[in-house]
Amino acid sequence: MKQDLRPIDDLITLTGKSAVVTGGAMGIGLGIAYRLAEAGARVAVADIEEEAAASAANQLVADGFEAMPVTVDVSDETSVRQMVDTVIDAYDAIDILVNNAGIYPNILVMNMTADDFRRVLDINLNGVFLCTKLVAERMIERGQGGRIINITSIDALHPSSAGLAHYDASKHGEWGFTKNVALELAPHRIWVNAIAPGGIVTPGVRHAQEGAQLPKGVDMAELIERFTARIPMGRFGEPDDIGRAALFLASDLSSYMTGTQIVVDGGVLLS
Ligand code: NAP
Repeated sequence: MKQDLRPIDDLITLTGKSAVVTGGAMGIGLGIAYRLAEAGARVAVADIEEEAAASAANQLVADGFEAMPVTVDVSDETSVRQMVDTVIDAYDAIDILVNNAGIYPNILVMNMTADDFRRVLDINLNGVFLCTKLVAERMIERGQGGRIINITSIDALHPSSAGLAHYDASKHGEWGFTKNVALELAPHRIWVNAIAPGGIVTPGVRHAQEGAQLPKGVDMAELIERFTARIPMGRFGEPDDIGRAALFLASDLSSYMTGTQIVVDGGVLLS
């Protein structure tokens, strides 16, 4: 007998919702912004570079979606407060926060300074704390729940290469933070989940590959080839692979999930 199921269009729609995607000007963030906007959300593209945020928001608008740019440095509390105020002034509320902004400079730990270490933790972990706290405060005040999606990494579970000790510390931290905050915010109907991408082709990855400090005798082209060979699906991911998972977590398709992490890595953790 046919069950009385909610129609699928109703489960996936984000019409009437507004979302903030940090680091949304390019790469994975832009991929996520596109899928949320396509599902009907108004999307604030929040990025450190004013021009990059404006150009990404213009691109979304030109494609027929609702979007606005907002400048933010996620590691700076004043800047995050301004971002939250700006988006709420424009959109009345924030229903969905995607903590995506992050950096991954490749530095071998023996060459790493305390400042190098601190900078990665400031953006990748303190930034997630600041955005979560300041947005959740407003979600709680409004009393209509919300979704928080943290973009971690397979490095939150297992190191992917040398030179990322600071990054792996930040991503393990982000995953731990996700679980604890999910517990704390559940009574407010704010569901907090994470997505752990594997290797995704983005401007940031191309830049990191160019500037990587590799152990003696290791060559980047060879490293990429070796990494690709380890991916059971045989390819690097695209930002839209993560956009699709984010849409799942932002919508009612994920109606009974909080404190979880979805690994989107083409199977690389199996290898
Ligand atoms: P990306 O191409 O470098 O894009 C990141 C965006 O965030 C850039 O526009 C960047 O601006 C911005 N940003 C940097 N610092 C910021 C700050 N303090 N405040 C606000 N915005 C800031 O990076 P991506 O590869 O898409 O990665 C996005 C997220 O996915 C990161 O958290 C990363 O750790 C995670 N991830 C990526 C991969 C991958 O393979 N790509 C794998 C696993 C996890 P600038 O360019 O001006 O710095």
